[in-house]
Amino acid sequence: MTIAIRKPSLGSAATAFLAKPHKLLIDGKWVDAKSGQTFPVEDPATEEVIAHVPAGDKADIDAAVAAARRAFETGPWSRILPGDRSRLVWRLGDLLEQHADEFAELEALDNGKPVTNARRDDVQGSINMFRYMAGWSTRLTGETIPVSSPGNWHVYTLREPVGVVGQIIPWNFPLMMAAWKLAPALAAGCTIVLKPAEQTPLTALRFGELIQEAGFPDGVVNIITGYGETAGAALANHPDVDKVAFTGSTEVGKLIVKAAAGNLKRVSLELGGKSPAIVFPDADIDRAISGTASAIFYNQGQCCTAGSRLFAHKSVYDRVVEGVSAEAGKIKIGHGLDPNVNLGPLVSKEQHNRVRGFLESGRKEGAEVVTGGNVPGNQGYFVEPTVLANTNRDMRVVREEIFGPVVCVQSFDDDDLEAVAKFANDTEYGLQASVWTSNLKVAHMMARKIRAGTICINNHNYGDPAWPFGGYKQSGWGREMGKEVMEHYTETKAIAALL
Ligand code: NDP
Repeated sequence: MTIAIRKPSLGSAATAFLAKPHKLLIDGKWVDAKSGQTFPVEDPATEEVIAHVPAGDKADIDAAVAAARRAFETGPWSRILPGDRSRLVWRLGDLLEQHADEFAELEALDNGKPVTNARRDDVQGSINMFRYMAGWSTRLTGETIPVSSPGNWHVYTLREPVGVVGQIIPWNFPLMMAAWKLAPALAAGCTIVLKPAEQTPLTALRFGELIQEAGFPDGVVNIITGYGETAGAALANHPDVDKVAFTGSTEVGKLIVKAAAGNLKRVSLELGGKSPAIVFPDADIDRAISGTASAIFYNQGQCCTAGSRLFAHKSVYDRVVEGVSAEAGKIKIGHGLDPNVNLGPLVSKEQHNRVRGFLESGRKEGAEVVTGGNVPGNQGYFVEPTVLANTNRDMRVVREEIFGPVVCVQSFDDDDLEAVAKFANDTEYGLQASVWTSNLKVAHMMARKIRAGTICINNHNYGDPAWPFGGYKQSGWGREMGKEVMEHYTETKAIAALL
């Protein structure tokens, strides 16, 4: 494991953006928070303050929602043709591509993630999302319905945009999570108030500039930086918001549901996970080792889909533990802006403390720390990639989402798929699972038996804009991406005409 915590310099475009004053985007104008308050944004690798952004609160959310409502009901957006809407959404992908390196750098600096991953996954994934979703504007068709009522009836449905949407974004993939929510909502014709996470507001603010450059009418997208308890809660509670889309912790997801009850706004939730990665003895073990290591260490383990519970059949358990530990040892830790780094810091002090607490708890409960378990260096929120072996279902590290580069390995000795699925399903979450085997029957039978929204066979952390993504159980409500996401952003209107 190599540790190199040196801060490389930023490119000129990202430097110029950082140096500017940062404001809220409301009704097409960049404005300060009404309270005049700001809060600092940190580089998690150095703990230095890199920017200040407005601390928007209820008053700013009210202004943003009013702007979004006007844009939805009376502005040019309310009359735009689907093809023109599609072109605007597509243009966001093109603009992002033109500024891809700048966005990757800002994301690496703000979140801590390796810049090569940010460019390849976060930025490219967002470009792909706008391009995929642009196509839906012209494909939101209703149906003609053959009814049996006596008389001459022409009965059909229309798909209409759901209205003003509040979108609350987490810090683990700040740009990509914004893209996942903005792209389908815009394609459907909704208007938006977006609240980025307090830890990582920079790419959303820069993206607001691209939204203006693309030519979206004023008020279609409004961006409010601020704290969850103030700005986020005001958005989730707002009586004039028709739908709220949230990604983040299950705990806050439950608060969103309660807040939404006031006006019964539609809610979609993408929440936590404790995803199993299951290695059968007939798997290509080398591939399973590198795949399950990447499943947990990618993005510093800060993925809702992280393969944090690794189950290996007893006949391959030692080899898997040894192999994943060896993979951890090869990882180069350092500042995310260094293109040679594979693992950056965790996003914040709070997250650092949380993950260290889990490591402590794992040790106390008897888990064996095979590799890692320490905090390298004396600045930044780094945690070594960690393998905890001999873990069991009763340990906190196995039951709760750690959201750090810490995998809990357990062995199974049962060849009965029902029994294996029982281990996998022994969690309140149900977001994702991966199955590693060369036996097609085992792969697809396991895919059916595991109660999770997405199943990966011989891979983990798959993603594609056409792939519906979301969770069973306490991992959430609804699906993002694919055609399924358009359900969240449209209402079905049924029309019965007596001819
Ligand atoms: P949160 O769920 O608190 O944050 C996600 C978003 O919700 C942020 O924009 C946050 O704003 C906002 N928010 C917080 N409180 C409220 C509220 N009362 N009403 C409306 N919005 C709110 O996650 P944390 O940052 O606290 O992380 C805690 C844990 O959550 C992690 O350790 C991880 O387990 C899980 N998590 C899961 C994610 C996923 O992808 N499923 C993503 C992030 C975290 P602000 O940041 O400004 O407070």
